[in-house]
Amino acid sequence: MINKQAMDKHSWVRVSCSAAMTFVLTMICVSSSWAEVKVKDFGKTANGETVKEYTITNAKGVVVKLLSRGATLSEWHVPDKNGKMDDVVFGFDDVAGYESKANGYFGATAGRVANRIAGGKFKIDGKEYTLAKNDGPNTLHGGVKRSLDKVVWIGQPFERPEGQGVSFKYVSPDGEEGFPGTLAIRVTYTLTDKNELRIDYDATTDKPTPINLTNHAYFNLSGAGSPTILDHELMLAADHFTPIDDTLIPTGEIAPVAGTPFDFREFHKIRERVDQLNDKPGKGYDHNFVLNNQTGKLALAAKVKDAKSGRVLSVYTTEPGIQFYGGNFLDGAKGKGGKSYAHRSGLCLETQHYPDSINQPKFPPVILRPGKTYKHTTVYQITAE
Ligand code: BGC
Repeated sequence: MINKQAMDKHSWVRVSCSAAMTFVLTMICVSSSWAEVKVKDFGKTANGETVKEYTITNAKGVVVKLLSRGATLSEWHVPDKNGKMDDVVFGFDDVAGYESKANGYFGATAGRVANRIAGGKFKIDGKEYTLAKNDGPNTLHGGVKRSLDKVVWIGQPFERPEGQGVSFKYVSPDGEEGFPGTLAIRVTYTLTDKNELRIDYDATTDKPTPINLTNHAYFNLSGAGSPTILDHELMLAADHFTPIDDTLIPTGEIAPVAGTPFDFREFHKIRERVDQLNDKPGKGYDHNFVLNNQTGKLALAAKVKDAKSGRVLSVYTTEPGIQFYGGNFLDGAKGKGGKSYAHRSGLCLETQHYPDSINQPKFPPVILRPGKTYKHTTVYQITAE
């Protein structure tokens, strides 16, 4: 005969055990070290190299995807003010898309020297180097065939108390794309539970060489493929910018933004003044801004607000400059899920040294020498309000 008291005791123990289990499981699940970084084959390059896709999910359900080709940020799903998730960065569904002409460096790591080098030429210690030109008379984003956005990196996923991520490594051989020195590069992405995507870059070389690394993500805070970024409001922590010539090379001047369409010290809708720049070099916003807090420490560089979704993007960097590119050369080519990326439907905030710094003695230097380590950190954070 079953004693009632004993049964009650047993069920109490059962209930307590299952409550304890639920508690433990909940604690494990909410701790960011629970979900593993998932890895799968994304596809093959035209050369037959396998491209890996890494999926990171934080405790808030925010999802970031990274690709080993170009150490690329390919997806970032974040909630809007009502909790609805959208992927807010541009990309493609397959490797062929990334290898196509439609790919304007979507989400990629740009380098060895991101942005432009005038005339595709520079000198280091008296020796001249010549690069392939891929942007009129200039070299853009590290060259033609084996720039950092096009090569396949080796990814190493990790789970750390501060978040989960992937560290990508690539060793660029001496002379690749015309640049001197064997350059060992590491780009580490970490997604935190505060919805920050932190990107740490470091590199070493065996010969003096110019270096300027950045991430080239295109954001639309209403969701990638939404028609425009012109209603996004932008703030840039920059009192000055670097005016450009007809080929988008800085003239060397560090000009005040005050009284110009480049004054984003307070929030302005991008739409407000962009048309004043339609016939100017860059055909809209495609300029480097001189960040105010150039101490080498992580400081707020930019904020973007999208009233429609309530999403806010904040950008912090250790770099002295930021290229604000307003998607003027986008032409409606199709990306993920068949969505069109129309003219000015995505914006890039590329934290970096100034364009053509290697030829501009007044700009902060970009030469990395043997024995030294290049370091750069940028944090993109997306919140909703
Ligand atoms: C440049 C733009 C260019 C875009 C895609 C940006 O960094 O400033 O002029 O069209 O990259 O290549």
